[in-house]
Amino acid sequence: MTAYNRSPYITCPHCGARAALRSSEQVTPLVREARVLCNDEECGHAFVVQISAIRTVRPSARPNPAVHLPLGGWTVPANDRPPRPANDDRSPAATGAAPAPG
Ligand SMILES: [Zn+2]
Repeated sequence: MTAYNRSPYITCPHCGARAALRSSEQVTPLVREARVLCNDEECGHAFVVQISAIRTVRPSARPNPAVHLPLGGWTVPANDRPPRPANDDRSPAATGAAPAPG
């Protein structure tokens, strides 16, 4: 594997090839915009992407009081799965959940 393969990239929305991030600038404390060029010379698509902070996985030890992000996991969007009450003893049928296999 080369360094190229490990570097961050985005897929061109038109041809699906890798597209390289060329330069970027911070727009707000939560949003950065990057200029992107498709690596497929025949396609040639140039576009702009936004990279935004959307949730906190581990709180900062140096918090910015102007920044407010919901807590969540690496892959689970914040607030999409409300915590199940500890005393919730309803059966799976009552909750509409599928029974566990086996
Ligand atoms: Zn392309």
